[in-house]
Amino acid sequence: MALVKDYSVEEKLVGLIKLQKVDSKLDQLKILRGELPMEVSDLEDEIQGLFARRGRIEQEINGISEFIQGKKNAIKDGEATLLKYEKQSENVKNSREFDALNKEIEMMQLENKLAEKHIKDANEELGDKVKALDASKKQISSKEGVLNHKKQELQKIIAETEKEEKELLKLSDIARETVDERLLYSYDRIRKNYRNGLSVVPVERDACGGCYNAIPPQRQSEIRLHKKIVVCENCGRILTDADLNDSIEIKID
Ligand SMILES: [Zn+2]
Repeated sequence: MALVKDYSVEEKLVGLIKLQKVDSKLDQLKILRGELPMEVSDLEDEIQGLFARRGRIEQEINGISEFIQGKKNAIKDGEATLLKYEKQSENVKNSREFDALNKEIEMMQLENKLAEKHIKDANEELGDKVKALDASKKQISSKEGVLNHKKQELQKIIAETEKEEKELLKLSDIARETVDERLLYSYDRIRKNYRNGLSVVPVERDACGGCYNAIPPQRQSEIRLHKKIVVCENCGRILTDADLNDSIEIKID
């Protein structure tokens, strides 16, 4: 440890309170950042899924369109064949040939009718798919709007918090200088042990501000005197009086 000025207990307490308030602000920044990136990546996943769905609908539309085109071509070919049959029927030699040709013509006409029905059904299906595609496009554009908004928000927060974080880290270092190594060690240890990261707490309503264990009046007077560091017997947190705690405000420019 470097040469350190011998700080009074009160100065150490002030340093600890500052440190706690700065570290709590740093914790809040982390929470703030921690949620938005997840929201953004969830949205990106969702949009990717929507694009995949859109792709499938487009493929189905292409498939149906090809089917319709195929049927239309078949009808055209059928009509050409019918014309050929009609010409042939002008030159038939006997009734057997005539009957056979007539049967072919009937078959061809029936096939064309069936193809027309298939086209009609496929067109109905195509209409539904086009509607689904339109809905899918709208959904994508609305989600993309939300995503862009969230991304901008995130970028803003990152830009803002980066500056704030730097300032806070600087303040944290300054506050640490006024607290001796032994106290810092227990401060860091307690902070790690509790999820809310509180290591220095004020006495509130005659109880520890960390675990709500009652603090007897005698100990409260000791705490108010600032002559020694008092820790909560139940949770081990460093205790301060509310007045000293409230008098310290962390300001960042
Ligand atoms: Zn406690």
